Amino acid sequence: MENLEGLKKLLNTPQDVVILTHRNPDGDAVGSSLGLSLFLQKNGHNVKVIAPSDYPDFLSWMPQANDIVIYDHDPEEVERIVKRATLIFCLDFNSLDRIDKAGELVDEARCPKVMIDHHLFPEPFADFILSETTASSTCELVYDFIHMLGQNDDLDKVIGECLFTGILTDTGSFKYSNSPKLFRTVANLLEIGVDDLKLQDLIFNSMNEKQLRILGHCLYNRLEILPEFHTGIITLTKEDYAFFDINRGDTEGVVNFLLKLRDIKLAAFIHEQPKIVKLSLRSKGDIDVQDMAKTHFRGGGHKNAAGGASFHNLSITVRRFKEILPEYQQQLQS
Ligand code: 5GP
Ligand code: MN
Repeated sequence: MENLEGLKKLLNTPQDVVILTHRNPDGDAVGSSLGLSLFLQKNGHNVKVIAPSDYPDFLSWMPQANDIVIYDHDPEEVERIVKRATLIFCLDFNSLDRIDKAGELVDEARCPKVMIDHHLFPEPFADFILSETTASSTCELVYDFIHMLGQNDDLDKVIGECLFTGILTDTGSFKYSNSPKLFRTVANLLEIGVDDLKLQDLIFNSMNEKQLRILGHCLYNRLEILPEFHTGIITLTKEDYAFFDINRGDTEGVVNFLLKLRDIKLAAFIHEQPKIVKLSLRSKGDIDVQDMAKTHFRGGGHKNAAGGASFHNLSITVRRFKEILPEYQQQLQS
């Protein structure tokens, strides 16, 4: 991070800090925000965490999760808080369109802004940028950030559990990415008392019956395999949403099941939302779904996990998705 000394100086006096994370916050978004928030509170700052939309139920056990201010629920409160901020942290996103209308508030804010993120192609809207696209998660980077400040001693079990949550969810328990450095980080977290097995249980064994049945429906009735492109697609219609009463978080992780198929290298979960059709893309190896999401679906993300949206209906979107596959044929068949 350039000018770390400048940021350290700012953090030497109590600030009104706002931590913002992206729409549909996942384990990394919530974990990094709450972990950083607890660390900053420990250092005497007044901290508010804001997300554009609500977090999934499986994260509700997290410390201070209840205090997260949700833009969709209370836009005026978010506006008040951002206008009062003396320092803004943007975590787990790197372009202001990822936080919808709150992006305008951040853009207008005159206070210093910090970005900590691991997505590709960061936009330079912040004064201090810790952007590391090889990092497993933003949580890993918040851990690094605390070390960069020389404040390892402030890392306690509660902060560690927040950070470990994002590491677990973004790496799929070390299945999608890992590194010697990450394992050293995790070893340190275990040493300060983080309960790995408790967290794995809280995070990965927390489905309710409805969610398991929705997964069954996706796999049994809504799965299509395109063997020539080593691609699997799962779709959900508006009618599915109504029939199963599907809510935010109920389809978390569905797309990953496609990757369990030996011959599948590209997975797409394409689902109808009230105003748009959303795509969640996953891949194995060298297939670059962030490029696919960015080029064709106004989205982005990482090489092996990305998302985007379409303003056409579901069947047109699925057709368009299939039509672009020949462009990626070489990668898909290698
Ligand atoms: P998911 O498929 O789980 O929603 O998202 C996978 C990854 O892609 C996450 O890192 C997420 O931040 C990113 N992503 C998902 N949707 C979008 C989008 O519409 N735009 C951008 N830029 N990134 C997205
Ligand atoms: Mn992340």
